[in-house]
Amino acid sequence: MSQIEKSPVVDLVETRGHTTGAEWLSRYSSSLMGVFGTPQRVLVRGAGCLVWDADGKEYLDLLGGIAVNAMGHAHPFVTSVISSQLATLGHVSNFFTSPTQIALAEKLLELSKAPAGSKVFFANSGTEAVEAAFKLARRNNGSGTAGNGTPRTKIIALEGAFHGRTMGALALTAKEAYRAPFEPLPGGVVHIPFGDVDALVEAIDETTAAVFLEPIQGEAGVRPLPAGYLRAAREATTKAGALLILDEVQTGIGRTGKWLASADAGIVPDAVTLAKGLGGGFPIGALVTFGPETSALLTAGQHGTTFGGNPVATAAALATLHAIENQHVLDNVRSVGEHLRSRLAGIDGVTEVRGEGLLIGFDLDADVAPAVVTAGLDAGFIINSPGPRTIRLAPPLILTEEQADRFLAALPDILHTAKEAQ
Ligand SMILES: *Cc1c(COP(=O)(O)O)cnc(C)c1O
Repeated sequence: MSQIEKSPVVDLVETRGHTTGAEWLSRYSSSLMGVFGTPQRVLVRGAGCLVWDADGKEYLDLLGGIAVNAMGHAHPFVTSVISSQLATLGHVSNFFTSPTQIALAEKLLELSKAPAGSKVFFANSGTEAVEAAFKLARRNNGSGTAGNGTPRTKIIALEGAFHGRTMGALALTAKEAYRAPFEPLPGGVVHIPFGDVDALVEAIDETTAAVFLEPIQGEAGVRPLPAGYLRAAREATTKAGALLILDEVQTGIGRTGKWLASADAGIVPDAVTLAKGLGGGFPIGALVTFGPETSALLTAGQHGTTFGGNPVATAAALATLHAIENQHVLDNVRSVGEHLRSRLAGIDGVTEVRGEGLLIGFDLDADVAPAVVTAGLDAGFIINSPGPRTIRLAPPLILTEEQADRFLAALPDILHTAKEAQ
């Protein structure tokens, strides 16, 4: 507590001495737009995989800000790099560049094993990375060097897909409740059944500009594409001259124990979107385009951003990637993920466990997932329910086996409490 009490931030927010969680939430509901409902807790501090709320209660964070806090909260190295960059040069606009932006682009091309001529565009969020990819797809319009003159207006996405909330990304997102209030959405997007290669092959034709895929659908409850699907998608898109765009906003940056979830699928995509884990908690998104042709589709003036790729965000991402590499974090992701999945499968009331590395979804034998989240919070664990009987875990990549065991030991009681509360 002493650290936060000395922080100048406290003077900016606390006008009436100590404020309880309930008081903060009442101020929240009078001042914040209602799109998120009522927040579960008011969080004031974090360290590693732990966070504390305004009433001093401690939580093990098994959600990591939804797959964002890759190196946990307040990581000393990431924090010091961000602070030092901010104290040196914070923002310059894209009339200028900065060494951190260039170094990060080079690093992302290296980590994604991109061939010569590949390029990076920086945005500020996942949905913005997807918007850039959507515009890239529109430029694959049949008029370029690879085109045969047929206009390419069709974009294919999957049922269950989540690609973001801005209008282009929303057009790619499948969920009716998210889409319906905002129609008409940018046109040309069709949704085909999840994981069905025949449906994909049938849908792709010479009017298809791009296919958007998540290697594992996170928001749909951590659903991995079947083995061989990405390879089949690569073959079909290549044959038709359509782009294969992988949305790795949630699955990228070590989340699955690999830099990209698609890394061992044996394919080279045309573009990959990244965001969530990339900045270790600092907002940043990126679109990586593979090879010179795809990288030349968007030309000078056709896309832009004021904040995207700014020195602080790119320094945060460089620090996060460096920490993941130097602290052998990917080994930890694989071993703790495997440990969690095998133990979860043996817990009474858990019917199925899915996912890879530290992106884990498990189904329950009853529609109690929201009550499990509440009971989990009361027991000191932050988890998430993407569906009525599905729990998702996306903890910091530095979660230890001991911390995982604390949750596993508490879970039977949490499930019991949730069922009692129903
Ligand atoms: C979270 C997410 C997005 C949107 O990212 P935001 O930063 O929330 O805009 C897009 N695609 C996938 C796969 C995601 O998980």
